[in-house]
Amino acid sequence: MSRRPEILFPLFAELTKLDGIGPKMAKNFAKIGVERPRDLLFVLPHSLINRALIASVQDVQPPCVVTVEVVVGMHRPNAVKGRPYRVTVQDAKTSFQLVFFHAHKDWLGEQLPSGQRRVVSGKVELFDGVAQIVHPDFILRVEAADAIPSNEPVYPLTAGVTQKTMQKAVASALTRAADLPEWIAPSLIAKHGWPGWLEAVQKGHAPEKPSDLAREAAPRERLAYDEIFAHQLTLALARAKLRRAKGVVTVGNCKLRNRVLAALPFKPTGAQLRSVGEITTDMAAPLRMNRLLQGDVGSGKTLVALLALLTAVEGGGQGVMMAPTEILARQHLEALQPLAENAGVVLEILTGRDKSGERRGKLAALASGDIQILVGTHAVFQKDVVFSDLRLAVIDEQHRFGVRQRMDLGNKGAAVDILVMTATPIPRSLALATHGDMDVSVLDEKPPGRLPVDTVLVSKERFDQVVARLKVAIAEGRQAYWVCPLVGESEIVEWAAAEERFRTLRAALGEDVVGLVHGQLPSAEKDAAMARFVAGKTKLLVATTVIEVGVDVPKASIMVIEQAEKFGLSQLHQLRGRVGRGADASTCLLMYAPPLGEAALRRLKVMRDTEDGFKISEEDLRLRGAGDVLGVAQSGLPRFQIADLEVQADLQKIAQDDARLLLFEDPDLDGERGQAARVLLYLMEQEKAIRLISVG
Ligand code: ADP
Ligand code: MG
Repeated sequence: MSRRPEILFPLFAELTKLDGIGPKMAKNFAKIGVERPRDLLFVLPHSLINRALIASVQDVQPPCVVTVEVVVGMHRPNAVKGRPYRVTVQDAKTSFQLVFFHAHKDWLGEQLPSGQRRVVSGKVELFDGVAQIVHPDFILRVEAADAIPSNEPVYPLTAGVTQKTMQKAVASALTRAADLPEWIAPSLIAKHGWPGWLEAVQKGHAPEKPSDLAREAAPRERLAYDEIFAHQLTLALARAKLRRAKGVVTVGNCKLRNRVLAALPFKPTGAQLRSVGEITTDMAAPLRMNRLLQGDVGSGKTLVALLALLTAVEGGGQGVMMAPTEILARQHLEALQPLAENAGVVLEILTGRDKSGERRGKLAALASGDIQILVGTHAVFQKDVVFSDLRLAVIDEQHRFGVRQRMDLGNKGAAVDILVMTATPIPRSLALATHGDMDVSVLDEKPPGRLPVDTVLVSKERFDQVVARLKVAIAEGRQAYWVCPLVGESEIVEWAAAEERFRTLRAALGEDVVGLVHGQLPSAEKDAAMARFVAGKTKLLVATTVIEVGVDVPKASIMVIEQAEKFGLSQLHQLRGRVGRGADASTCLLMYAPPLGEAALRRLKVMRDTEDGFKISEEDLRLRGAGDVLGVAQSGLPRFQIADLEVQADLQKIAQDDARLLLFEDPDLDGERGQAARVLLYLMEQEKAIRLISVG
């Protein structure tokens, strides 16, 4: 059992061990998450007060902090209770006033004896045209003026904690910091000119000029790297552990894959072939695969998945493909079953909807290996679902599944290879932070012949025109989606809005041509509505975001999104990805409720101007922040205190490579640098990593 290194003990002591911190103050600190001396080290100053002595308040532009030497003049005590006590002072060029509220006359007389010289420091302001300092921070005899720090760090505060308390506490915490062994590769240290850890924290708290506060300042950058590296090392440990869990060697013979490819009306793209190659190489290795397949909507991930699943079957095992919704699972079934059948492979579906008899039959066939490929929903996670020899689990549209479920699925086989597919192009920085434990294949090439989708912004005031246009398009035999707005958190409200819209559109376009799907509909009705739309019986499908992910109806060429300004960019991109899949030129109408704010307008313009999912996700990240881009299910985001996840992507990449290399060279972290890395993991409180290194 690994335990916290002794060198860190002083930093993990009670906060009350620090100078000036009693139990009450400790409670105040806890409000900003500061519970141990260690925590204080990573609360860096956000700005800097220059208290270097200057000649006169006339030399600065108030309001600002100054330090000047003055001769004390007249005292003017508060004549009326509640009015301030004023002391006139004279610096090298001008006279100004020191102002005190609720002043103690005797104390002031002692501090500022008339006719004597003092150094005062504080914020000078103009009041009625006269310069004044209210409650100076320092009033000292000239001989004692050295006690004024010439550069004073300014910290983020909370109620009950003053700058002085904070500064004192930090200084005290710094005395507990030891010179820790170096965990960063020497070459990186040299390349970036980074100081050692102790020097970095010391300097981080002692900025001397504004540029010392910049993200790129060497001490800060090093501390940021430490945070990022600790996180990447955690991910790398998780990855190593997964890979080490003895993988099953699955080698295909291409027979089934070739049969399927021969039956397709198109050729796979280069990116599809490359990804299949990467996947089958992983499957053939004795390590466990943990791979992410990233590909924009319409890039053809399903085919890649099928070829990988067929490899599992060729290798004598089974494969499973998980979809986030019933609709998608059915769609996969419909797309894949004919291809599988044609190749002589048994492919079945398992969802929560199977009746008990049917379900029992399927479970038996799975356990005996008669079902070779299973397509399913969450229902597959259930305990009684047992495979004969599961080799590969494909998880489609992963952002709907949590990381834990990914792991659960992995437990269904001896050492199931895992392929996660996502259509949400995640900005590189976030991908590194959240998927650093995976290897990544990218489908960066779309199947040929796709027409661009014409995206138009339209005010909801033109609702009637839009409906009239739809009527014409439908008469021409085209099909369309109509996505209803997100009306808050409740599905019920969303559903009510969809039903309401369904009624209006049906009245306008005709009873038979309009269908409806939303999450609250009984599943049989949902299927029926989808089926009617796929078959072209209904021409317009009114829907909530249930159609967001993966739905593929090539004949649909119009997408109307109501209150588009309420959606995230990535979500709009997903929705728009439902059209532009067939031979017809497609249109996407982004309907908004005016007046549109500037930010909202900018977002919708991004949608209008590009169809590149990566560009859109980068923009989404800039406009909304990481949490929103990834959504709730994906909250595997680290919370960095110093590093900036969104802009320090380069450091993340460096850290990822370095962490993987370190583990490759020293898998148990027992070498010199490995031991140092352990100290880092404890320092950064990487609980998960610590558990991983503890179990060995
Ligand atoms: P996504 O990556 O969004 O899941 P799909 O796998 O649903 O994309 O594929 C979108 C459409 O493109 C499907 O109709 C599929 O049959 C088709 N498709 C896939 N690969 C190719 C290809 N190489 N050439 C032409 N069409 C393809
Ligand atoms: Mg898909």
